[in-house]
Amino acid sequence: MNLHELTIHQAHDLLKNKEISARELTADVLARISDAEPAVDAYITITGDAALAQADMADKQILAGDIQSLTGIPLAIKDLICTKGIRTTCASKILENFIPPYDATVMGKLHQTGAVMVGKVNMDEFAMGSSTENSGIKLTKNPWNSAHVPGGSSGGSAAAVAADMCLGSLGSDTGGSIRQPAAHCGVVGVKPTYGRVSRFGLVAFASSLDQIGPLAKDVTDAAILLTAISGYDSKDSTSVNRPVPDYLAGLSNSVKGLRIGIPKEYRTSEGVSPDVTAAVQNAMAFYKDAGATLVDISLPHAPYAVAAYYLIAPAEASSNLARYDGVKYGQRDMDAGTLLDMYRQTRSKGFGPEVQRRILLGTYALSAGYYDAYYKKASQIRTLIKADFVKAFDVCDVILSPVTPTPAFKIGENTDDPLTMYLSDIFTLSANLAGIPGLSVPCGFSKDGLPVGLQLMGNYFDEQTLLNTAYAFEQATGFHTKRPEILKAS
Ligand code: GLN
Repeated sequence: MNLHELTIHQAHDLLKNKEISARELTADVLARISDAEPAVDAYITITGDAALAQADMADKQILAGDIQSLTGIPLAIKDLICTKGIRTTCASKILENFIPPYDATVMGKLHQTGAVMVGKVNMDEFAMGSSTENSGIKLTKNPWNSAHVPGGSSGGSAAAVAADMCLGSLGSDTGGSIRQPAAHCGVVGVKPTYGRVSRFGLVAFASSLDQIGPLAKDVTDAAILLTAISGYDSKDSTSVNRPVPDYLAGLSNSVKGLRIGIPKEYRTSEGVSPDVTAAVQNAMAFYKDAGATLVDISLPHAPYAVAAYYLIAPAEASSNLARYDGVKYGQRDMDAGTLLDMYRQTRSKGFGPEVQRRILLGTYALSAGYYDAYYKKASQIRTLIKADFVKAFDVCDVILSPVTPTPAFKIGENTDDPLTMYLSDIFTLSANLAGIPGLSVPCGFSKDGLPVGLQLMGNYFDEQTLLNTAYAFEQATGFHTKRPEILKAS
C-alpha cells in the first residue's frame, strides 16, 4: 500500500512503531499531490518545504517518545482558516494576496500535536456555494468523475481526502459545507455543535451558523481530528466551556437500543433521486437489523429551512463582508478617482457574482422597512426549527436523513440557476439553524458510480453518539474503503 493511501490511525501505528518516518509519509503525500493535482485541482497553496520541516520536527518528537494521534500526519486546510505567514485567500480575488499575521486557534491546536500541513485547499468564494464552482481561483473536480463537482463549499478539503492528497482535512460548515462535499466525494465529514470548536481565525461568513470540522477517510480519523480541534477558547465568545471527550476512546459499534428518528417531512421530499433513496433505505434496514429502533418523528418547520437560511446567512454575510473595502484588507482598486469610487470598484472587481448576490440579498433583508418582513421573520422560523429538534430528541437519540437530494451534479449544470443550487441544501441547513451536530458517512454509490452520503444529526454536544452510529454502519458495510479508481497510483 502507498503511504498516501493510509488512514490517520494506520499511519499513526506505523509512525509509533518507527516503521515509517513522518518525513517519508509527508514526502509521499507531496508526491501524490503533484501526480493528482492536474486532474483534481484541490489545492490553492502547497506548502511543501514548510511541511517537510514540520515532518522533521515531528520525527524528533516521535524519537523523544512524545507521539500524539496527529503527530507527523499530513493534513490539508480549507483556505479560509488563517495560517500565520501563509496566504489565506478564501478563494477570493479580494484576498488573493492576504497573508495572516496569526494562526487560527485550530491551527495552534494542530501545531501543538505535531501535525503537518501540506497546503491550503480550494472552496467556494467566502464559503458561499455548494459546488466549489464559485471559487475565484480554480475549478476543483470530483475525484470519482472529473465531469462532476466535488460539492462545496469545502470541495477542496473533500476532494483532497478522497484522492489521497492528504490524510485528513479541515473544512467549515455554515449550511452543509462539510457534510455535502463529504457525501459527494465519499468521505466522512462532521459539523460539530455550534460552540464546540473555536472559530477564532476562521474568516467569518455567517457568524451565528459557522463551525469548523473535520473531513476524513473514516469515522475513526474523524474522531481523532474532532478531539484535537475541539474545546473552549477565550478568543471566541461563542465557544462553550465544556470538557472535550476523547472521541476515539469512546468509539463503539453497538447500536442496540439506539432510537433513530426518521423525519416524516424528509420521506416525502420531492426531487430526491432514486439512487439516494435506495442507499438511505438500505442504511435504515441495516440499523434495524443491528438492534436499533426506528422512530417516526416530525420536523414540521423543516420545509422552511431553505427560505430562512437564505435570508439569515446573506444578512450576516452582508455585515461581515463590509470590512473588505480596499482600506483594511486585501486588494484596492488603484484607478478610482474618489473614495466612494474606490470602495465601489474594489468591491465590484474583488468579489465574484455569488458573493455580490449574497451581499445585495442580505443588505435588502436588513434594510429599514424590510427587516421585519424578512430578517425578523426568518429568525422566528429559525426558533421554530430549533424547537422541532428539541422536541424530536425527547423520543430519539439520532436523526437519520439523506445529506443531499442527488449525487454530485455535473460541472456547470446548476451555475445559471442559483435557486436550484440553494434547494440542494434542503437536508443540511436545519442543523446549522438549530446549532446541533451533523455528520455525513458514505452509504453507497449511484448507478453511475458516484458516492452517496448518509446524514446523522445528534443532540447538542452529543458528537459521540453520532460518531458511534456512523462507525457501526461503516464497519459493517465498508463503503469507506472504496477509493476513486481513476486516480489509483500504479
Ligand atoms: N451551500 C450553502 C451556502 O451556499 C452552505 C455553505 C456553507 O456551509 N459554507 O450558503
